[in-house]
Amino acid sequence: MRSILPALSACLLMACAATPAWPDAAESEALSQARSQSELTESLASQMWDWAEVGYQEEKSSALLQDTLAGEGFTVTPGVAGIPTAFMAEYGSGGPVIAILAEFDALPGINQTASPVREEVPGKGAGHACGHNLFGAGSVSAAIAVRHWLEESGTPGRVRIYGTPAEEGGSGKVYMVRAGLFEDVDIAMHWHAGDRNTAAANTSLANRSAKFRFRGISAHAAGAPERGRSALDGVEAMNMMANMMHEHMPQDARMHYVITSGGSAPNVVPDFAEVFYYVRHPDPKGVEAIWARLEDAARGAAQGTGTKVDWEIIHGNNPLLVNEKLARMMDAKLRQVGGVEYTDAELEFAETIASTFDNPARDIASAAEIQPFEVSLGYGSTDVGDVSYAVPTVGLRTATWVPGTSAHSWQAVAASGTSIGYKGAQIAAETLTLAAVELFTNEDLRAEARKEFDEKRGPDYEYKSLLGDRDPPLDYRK
Ligand SMILES: [Zn+2]
Ligand SMILES: [Zn+2]
Repeated sequence: MRSILPALSACLLMACAATPAWPDAAESEALSQARSQSELTESLASQMWDWAEVGYQEEKSSALLQDTLAGEGFTVTPGVAGIPTAFMAEYGSGGPVIAILAEFDALPGINQTASPVREEVPGKGAGHACGHNLFGAGSVSAAIAVRHWLEESGTPGRVRIYGTPAEEGGSGKVYMVRAGLFEDVDIAMHWHAGDRNTAAANTSLANRSAKFRFRGISAHAAGAPERGRSALDGVEAMNMMANMMHEHMPQDARMHYVITSGGSAPNVVPDFAEVFYYVRHPDPKGVEAIWARLEDAARGAAQGTGTKVDWEIIHGNNPLLVNEKLARMMDAKLRQVGGVEYTDAELEFAETIASTFDNPARDIASAAEIQPFEVSLGYGSTDVGDVSYAVPTVGLRTATWVPGTSAHSWQAVAASGTSIGYKGAQIAAETLTLAAVELFTNEDLRAEARKEFDEKRGPDYEYKSLLGDRDPPLDYRK
């Protein structure tokens, strides 16, 4: 129980923030448990960094996290939602269910050693350029710290880890939400690697992606061109129309593509070509509206080039529904834990990385700071969005990367495999632990968060996945 005295002095000092920012007995016990696990956080993160397994193929990473949790007395349910590498693990009984999400997929085509200069690992096809090795490690470490605190304090409640595969373009969490796996959860927490420490309530864009496949007729490109119909022409015509659409889209929309197949020899009219599109907008209805125009462009392109087209939805995410009550609580916990302090060797690493940035880099010293709290629109997308429409959800970012580092860069891969990344993951683990203690013990906060969630979602809200009813694309990285 908190005494009145620190409450009063905190009010005087801090204009009485909604959540007190000093450790009470429960918090300091949980925090010292979380701190004692920094080696565990590092060991999990470094193993997953080495493996760098891509979406839906994270067999070793998923097994490592499951085995670690089982060893700590968690009840593990593997292979949930029809996804072999997705899992749930729970400890405790009765009380509220506080969930923590854990990602672990790497990105294909980006490969880097844990060095501050550009250097590839020979033969390695993927890398942790989004720091999901840290995400998985920090979250599991937090769940284990909370589990010890639940046991030692005799607090009723359950801490549950969701092992969520294939965040990058695979929307693993959407299938888990669609399967109803979050229905009994009170609050869900997540975090992400980053170049700064912040619990700002950042929304994200809804998105949808699909592969558009054009089929034509092959022929000798010089000997019998009149007999051919180029599937690549279909792709190019579609892209031209999509590029014109860009001028007539809402300000906050985003649309981008890559050609994933365009034929193999200029003297063969390609009978197959494929283009992979992403469409994003703050509102799912905005995505749907642009999407309908993009489908028209695909049909028009096929008609005009004498080809046929069909498409497969690959992934789709709802935007993040931020919960300001919870975000302010997380902000207070993050401030209690503090930022990343570099050793001399880490500072040297950071300076070398920073010297590779074209743009003026952020101040390296900002890794030790916590950014001001704000509510803002972010332009990325995440499958945490679907979780945030199923249950009140809150997250944070920590400075696992050198300030100024962009996600999906070799600089992000490098730091994610060093003590800088591990320290950031540990800060997340400690912050999530403190947040969990608050959520288990503060019934009013849970009720207020639920009220805000219900109001923001609206009384008539019906969940709709942006990827429709397709099955998980378990082979999308093969
Ligand atoms: Zn990413
Ligand atoms: Zn990510």
